[in-house]
Amino acid sequence: MLENSWKILLISTPVGPLGSGLGGGVELSLLNTAKSLKQRGHRITVVAPQGSVLDGFPLVEIPGQFQPIAQNQSRDALIQLPENAVLSNMWDYGRKVQEDYDLIVNFAFDWLPFYLTPFFTTPIAHWVSMASLITAIDQVVLAVMAQFPGTVAFCAHNQAATFHPEAPYTCLFGGLDLNRYQFCQEPGPALAWMGRIAPEKGLEDAVAVVDQLGIPLMIFGKIQDADYWQDIQRRYPDAPLDYRGFLSTDALQAGLREARALLMTHRWMEAFGNVAIEALACGVPVISYDRGGPAEIVRDGETGWLVEPDQVAGLVGAIARLDEIDRQQCRTQAEQEYSLTAFGDRLTQWFRGIIAARSDGA
Ligand code: UDP
Repeated sequence: MLENSWKILLISTPVGPLGSGLGGGVELSLLNTAKSLKQRGHRITVVAPQGSVLDGFPLVEIPGQFQPIAQNQSRDALIQLPENAVLSNMWDYGRKVQEDYDLIVNFAFDWLPFYLTPFFTTPIAHWVSMASLITAIDQVVLAVMAQFPGTVAFCAHNQAATFHPEAPYTCLFGGLDLNRYQFCQEPGPALAWMGRIAPEKGLEDAVAVVDQLGIPLMIFGKIQDADYWQDIQRRYPDAPLDYRGFLSTDALQAGLREARALLMTHRWMEAFGNVAIEALACGVPVISYDRGGPAEIVRDGETGWLVEPDQVAGLVGAIARLDEIDRQQCRTQAEQEYSLTAFGDRLTQWFRGIIAARSDGA
């Protein structure tokens, strides 16, 4: 089969509609997957929860209740499916149309699509977008890796390691449409923080930094946990915070590019951190806790600083050394590693192996 003839069905996250921000980085990852594959002549259709917004691609909107988010669940959590679940409805649609596609790509961090894999005749590529959180999901991911070698990809090696994989896997990192991000050589006075406002993202540490230094902090992102956000504001009533809301990529980059640096203060094992590569694309250095995906993105001392996790003092020290970072180097790193072309190379290499294995009857 010619590579340029692939027909691919992308099945989105069931935690919210595309464009809502509830899906976090997966929303942007799905869009850029679609873009980079389209650029290479592949035909893409996207299946996503009803209410999704996605320009430029055929979109099948599926009704049903959203899935509870995995990061709020305990390690021994049972697998849940709400009544009339959008997750099972999307995969039921995928099952019915599978004959029309060469490949289905799963963007859900959920048990069901992994469990269904042996029952499908069309191969399924699974992009695992979070670190290990729930034992039942770990088990089904590892089972699919063993039964269908090469079909599972992770965002970064640190994330993959949390599943203790024995089989080989693909590491996708991520990719961006760099034309959408404008380089900025001369920043304004503020720092930036960006992402879902939820406890695992550790916004309070970035706020503690600016409270101490008196440097303004632009905050971009969906308020996923309103109590958590109010608690931060109560604890730091005088911190110079500038909450900009949850913005479209175009508006987001227009603000972000003015930042002196992006602070990444995640408490959890961040799988990747799209926000890091978006900052680099604008020429904004990244100061991050040395944990998870960002530790594989930031070139310490060259495109930002990696500091000891959960230590506000380390962040303060890195801010004092921002002058040592060349903003042009940040943009260059994004161009070298995270362009749609570089990302498309990783994606198509992954898919080529899966499609070839299935054609061989493996
Ligand atoms: N984001 C956005 N508008 C905002 C703030 C953030 O669209 O105002 C997006 C950002 O582009 C990124 C996502 O939110 O794609 C956050 O993803 P990340 O991978 O950093 O973390 P996740 O939410 O997946 O844990």
